[in-house]
Amino acid sequence: MRLYINDVAVRDGFQIEPRFIPTAAKVELIDHLSRTGLHKVEVTSYVSPKAVPALADNNDVLAGIERVPGVVYVALVPNIRGVQNAAAAPKKADEVNGVISASETHNRANINRTHEQSMGELPTMVKIAHEAGMKITMSLSTTFGCPFEGHVAEDVVLRFVERFREMGLDGISLADTTGMANPRQVEELTRKVLARFPAPDETYYTLHFHNTRGMGLANVIAGIAAGVRSFDGSLGGLGGCPFAPGATGNICTEDMVNMLEDMGYDTRVDLAKLIACARMVPELVGHDVPGQVMKAGVTMHLHELPENLRP
Ligand code: ZN
Repeated sequence: MRLYINDVAVRDGFQIEPRFIPTAAKVELIDHLSRTGLHKVEVTSYVSPKAVPALADNNDVLAGIERVPGVVYVALVPNIRGVQNAAAAPKKADEVNGVISASETHNRANINRTHEQSMGELPTMVKIAHEAGMKITMSLSTTFGCPFEGHVAEDVVLRFVERFREMGLDGISLADTTGMANPRQVEELTRKVLARFPAPDETYYTLHFHNTRGMGLANVIAGIAAGVRSFDGSLGGLGGCPFAPGATGNICTEDMVNMLEDMGYDTRVDLAKLIACARMVPELVGHDVPGQVMKAGVTMHLHELPENLRP
């Protein structure tokens, strides 16, 4: 079964790093990532440089990277202003990704907008993106739980999906940025979404998990069981959540690919190349990262026999 793997490290991971990753280093990493077989690479965001100085070089990154055919280059846009800036870039992203939280409190904390303000802006965002020749997708964060409000009602999630579909979005990501999802919940809720609003293509729905409580990869398996084929990860497991102190980041892309390939899924990702990319990350950010396969080696990385067992 074909699965589609997206990496968000350069945006989701680098945005919270205290150290500014030089533009040339970002470009080099993205150029390597582009050649691993990933479906999408999220390369930057159009957020106020005051709020996220780490990604203030958005235009330079997009202008500097080499576009590998078949790879979708994505930029995050939190509002109309963000889409306008993304549309005005000398070299545009192929796709912009907006974000809204299923929980009103989290939406206000994250992007300082009520639900109605966010939804009210969306048709304009879609129009600007499409007129600029960019696709536009939406991430629905706190789909599986909110750190302020707790459980998010399934009907709320379904209603958001319905409205996104009506507004002509090119894709929807169900996101668990605070790591509150569990596999049973993922399978049940995702099944309902796909049954009510069937996917027009294999990559329309994406699942975005964080490994905050160690359930990230289990949630991927639950998502596959429910019918989703597209998954986000972050190189080395980089990332976090500003509203969940102590929280670990996204699930690790190369750990996910190693698992999926071992299970017989077809990710089209060259794992050795991806691990080589992951091994660039600790030096770039100046600290260790949570990725496991980059340290342990792939599953079939066999060890030499202990001396007493050698023939
Ligand atoms: Zn994330």
